[in-house]
This record gives sequence, structure tokens and C-alpha cells, in this order.
Amino acid sequence: MPDQVVTVEGILKEQARMTLDDRFTFHCGVNLGCFTACCRDVSIVLTPYDILRLKKALRLDSTEFLEKHTLPLFGAQQKFPLTILRMDPEIKKCPFVTEQGCSVYSDRPWACRMYPLGVAKPKNPSPADQPFYIVLHEELCQGHGQGETRSVGEWIAEQGIEEYEMMGASFQDLVLHDFWNRDAALTPQQAEMFYMACYDLDRFRRFVFESRFLDLFEIDEARIEALRSDDEELLEFALLWLRFSLIGEKTMKIRREVLEARKQAARQSSMAATPGSVV
Ligand code: SF4
Ligand code: SF4
Repeated sequence: MPDQVVTVEGILKEQARMTLDDRFTFHCGVNLGCFTACCRDVSIVLTPYDILRLKKALRLDSTEFLEKHTLPLFGAQQKFPLTILRMDPEIKKCPFVTEQGCSVYSDRPWACRMYPLGVAKPKNPSPADQPFYIVLHEELCQGHGQGETRSVGEWIAEQGIEEYEMMGASFQDLVLHDFWNRDAALTPQQAEMFYMACYDLDRFRRFVFESRFLDLFEIDEARIEALRSDDEELLEFALLWLRFSLIGEKTMKIRREVLEARKQAARQSSMAATPGSVV
């Protein structure tokens, strides 16, 4: 699966914009000389849902999966931490590629499903500014012009991309939020919260159930039960918590008694700080 990092300028200059109805001819398979060549030395950014699927398929805890198969990426130019699939350091190939192909095929990441398509989505789509697709041409890929001709929409359906897009919608909303336009960088603690909630879901679960978290927030019992075992539910909840704690949105409700206790503590400390007050 070749690298899909394409600059916006490059897309606009060189690539034809395609809609869901536009058609292209492509085939990928074991009969091609390039089979699995694209699963080497490639940067694949993993979404939270990619990690959820892969760690489940491999029966790994998310912490173990991240340590074993990913590299964190949080450079000075980045607003928030990313996670990329770690290539084998010796032979620079994806840990999941075999001679027969992808060993995690039914749970392969979104980027691997999309290839050879790339997508550009405007932040606020309007009639004049709609998402569009492009066909990426990597030199090593011999699949172009081979096999069936199908529409972009048919490719998306065949590759199981709709489920990934649906499960990725909340994450996409979060990372496209205006919050990230501010100048201030995340503090190390905020970056750690983001990483845990988005990528290290089993650690986030332990945080919810093994800290004072449930004493602080009003969460109904049915949801608490779901969070114990349902990873998809937990991921949606983790993203709501990030919106609450990073962005300050009212996506979570603090328990009334916690708010009262905080008010009381604030009153006491202001009285203690007032000269002449009776404590
Ligand atoms: S996950 Fe599968 S398809 Fe994607 S790069 Fe690895 S082996 Fe290739
Ligand atoms: S056809 Fe393209 S995507 Fe398929 S194995 Fe060859 S290089 Fe990879």
C-alpha cells in the first residue's frame, strides 16, 4: 500500500478530481509482479478505528499493540499526536505482509483499503466545495489499467470503507475543529490525554474504571456497562471526553455534588484569603 501523503498543491495541479460516480480501471492481486511491493517502506497513519480493528484482530491489548506495531509521531509542526504503522526496522516492511498478501486483510487500515484512491474533504462542504477523489499513481504499482472498470462509489463499497468512515466520523470532526487553529500548543499532559483517548483505548478504559472518573461525571448505568466491553462505544465516549476536557464543550456532565463541593472549597479558600475573615 503506497504512501498517500500528497500535497494539496500537487492534487490541484496534477490530478483529475473525481466524484463517486467517476470510473477508473484498477486491479490488485497475486498475479501482478508488484504484489505486496507496496507494503514495504511506507508511512501509514493509523486512525483510532484502524487501531481498534487491528488490536482486536490480533487479540492484543491496545497498549501492547501500540508498543509492538506503531510509532508515535508528534513533531513541532503537528497540532496533535499521530500514530504510524511501524515497519520492520531491518527489512522495512509492514509487520503484517506475507508472501500470500496481507495477513490482516479483513481488518487492514483505512489507507490500505483506499489505495489507489486518495480523498480530499473540505472542512465545511458547500455546493461549490465538495469532497473529491483522485487516483494516485505510484511508480511501483502495476495495477492501473488492469482488470475491471468501476466507479469510485463501487470501490468504496467493495473495500468496506463506509464502515471505517462512519466509525471515523467523530475523530474527523474532532481533528477538524476550530480549536486547532489557535496558536497555543497542547501541553504534554493534554497531548498524553489525546494519545490515550484516541489510540490507547484499553488504557483509557482502565482510566475510566480504575480512577475517580465515574465519581466525577454523570453517566447512566447502561452506558457504563457498555463501556466495560464495547470498544466502539468506548471510542465514541473517549472522543466526547476529549471535546469536554480539551475544547471545553459541554459533552459531559459533572455530578451536582462534585460541583457543590468545588464551590464550597472555592468559597472557603476565598474567605481564608480575605484579611479579617473569620475562619
Ligand atoms: S496492513 Fe496489509 S495492506 Fe496494509 S501495508 Fe500492511 S500488509 Fe499491506
Ligand atoms: S497492484 Fe499496486 S496496490 Fe496492488 S500489490 Fe501491486 S503495487 Fe500494491
